[in-house]
Amino acid sequence: MNLKPRFLILTAALILLASTAAWFAFERIAEGIIEQWGVRLAETQVRYDSARLLQPLSREIALSKQMANSQVIRRWAVNPNDAALEREAIAEMESFRSNFQDGSYFVALKESGAYYHNNDKDEFAGQQLRYHLKPENPADRWFYQIVEQGRDFHLNVNPDEQLGVTKLWIDVVIRDGDRILGVVGTGLELDRFIREVVRVAQPGITTLFADHNGAIQLYRDPRYIDFATIVKREGEKNTIDRLLDSETDRQHMRLAMQALASEGPAGASDARVLSHFVKVEGKRYLAGVAYLPEIDWYEVTLLDLGVLMPVHSFASVLFIFATTLLAALLLFNYVLNRLVLNPVAALETAMLRVSDGDLTQASLPRGQGEIGRLIARFGAMAESVRNHTRDLEARVAERTEALHRLASIDALTGLLNRRGLSERLTEEISRAQREQHTFGLLWIDIDLFKEINDYQGHAVGDEALAAVGRLLACSIRPYDCAARWGGDEFLVLLSPCDHEALARLGERIRAGVEAGIELPGETGVTVSIGACLAGPGESLETILHRADQALYAAKAEGRNRLCIAGDRSEEMA
Ligand code: GH3
Ligand code: MG
Repeated sequence: MNLKPRFLILTAALILLASTAAWFAFERIAEGIIEQWGVRLAETQVRYDSARLLQPLSREIALSKQMANSQVIRRWAVNPNDAALEREAIAEMESFRSNFQDGSYFVALKESGAYYHNNDKDEFAGQQLRYHLKPENPADRWFYQIVEQGRDFHLNVNPDEQLGVTKLWIDVVIRDGDRILGVVGTGLELDRFIREVVRVAQPGITTLFADHNGAIQLYRDPRYIDFATIVKREGEKNTIDRLLDSETDRQHMRLAMQALASEGPAGASDARVLSHFVKVEGKRYLAGVAYLPEIDWYEVTLLDLGVLMPVHSFASVLFIFATTLLAALLLFNYVLNRLVLNPVAALETAMLRVSDGDLTQASLPRGQGEIGRLIARFGAMAESVRNHTRDLEARVAERTEALHRLASIDALTGLLNRRGLSERLTEEISRAQREQHTFGLLWIDIDLFKEINDYQGHAVGDEALAAVGRLLACSIRPYDCAARWGGDEFLVLLSPCDHEALARLGERIRAGVEAGIELPGETGVTVSIGACLAGPGESLETILHRADQALYAAKAEGRNRLCIAGDRSEEMA
């Protein structure tokens, strides 16, 4: 596979890998940030919710405590049968009634079980003694339980069957030293309280309050509220445990509550908040828990972080990251293509061209850095190959020409051989035809050459051949051409030539040989020459035939002579 698709696949794989890694990292980081933020939010929210609960309650609690401490009421509680003290006490109760937010109060005495009560409509004016509590009446058990527990102060969520309303009761014990005389207090209408304090429309935030046992006292869903918890036994109570899905979460919650309660009293504003994750009805919440020593209750705030700060609110960060990553990788790919892959592909094309024999450098790509140097090296290499090739071609041409020359030269005499002269003759015939001129041909044969060979040996024969060759070379004009035709036969081409020149040059050669060549043993050498004057339109065959005939005639006439062939017309005649 080519590098380009490979890099594309690699880029795609990198994008995928980096995106997956980034997604996981993003989720972790986002979750971490959200959790940290959630813990802070839980602290703030818990304090805020606690303050919201305590603000309306604390005034009522303070008033109830004042009422329980009232001298008038306590004096009467010690002597409940004293009518005068009772009148004074009722007047005192009525003055408190107008101060209570609910406009109602109750006073219950321990000895007699007498229960005094009046409401905001002053419905029981003059009949404040409503009835008598009885230990055996289940509806009255709360009172005996408070007395038995001996706690000075108690909050109790309880439906009042007589009144037909559910109230958050504030119960304060009347004491005379260690002796408990009774319980006084007021109530707040639960529905209103839940509406104003607990069921506030804050999406993702759920607030609940539990008493020191963990029994749920205030919650948006009244079905979970543990009414009249004081009269229930351990195990029968509706505690926070019921809300939590897992045993581990319950354990966590119990430990947190114990840790908070053991720290002792602290103000609502600086109460410590412990937070941990819990599952409620299958959903994950961050639970913030604080202890409210003023009322001996716990405040639990459940934060649904998925609603308060959904992970997708961080999506823009992921989007920016993914876009940057994509852009970076695409840019990398673009730069890689531009700087590496495209020049490499162009270099490959150039190499193919070079291997096909095109050694020009004009089409070499341009590149930078290492690629640029590689291209330059390749260019230099192509250049040197080109020079080398040019050199080789020149040398081959030279050698070919030399070979050609050698092939046309007779080794013994240095004259043209039969092949060399045949080429010249063919050219000459064409030229004669073209220019309408005549040329001459001398066919020279050494006389009785066999005898030289036979009597003096081949070496002397060769020497005779070479000597005739030398003489021919000297005797002819610069524009004539002599050749060894084979054996002891030589041809001379005379061009241009006429009858007179033919006879003159033929005779000059014959006489030159006769006079100029002497072999060892004073043996002379003679030649017979057949000459012919060739005209335009004559074929090589005819010309050779005519010269040969003339030579034949010279031999026949006694050798060492020149015989010139007659005109063609004469011959034909
Ligand atoms: P004629 O006068 O009729 O020509 O008689 P001749 O003896 O010359 O007869 P011919 O021309 O037919 O003989 C040619 C001889 O030349 C025959 C051959 O042995 C000899 N010969 C051919 N080539 C060479 C060569 O290269 N060197 C030598 N030494 N002899 C050659
Ligand atoms: Mg001969």
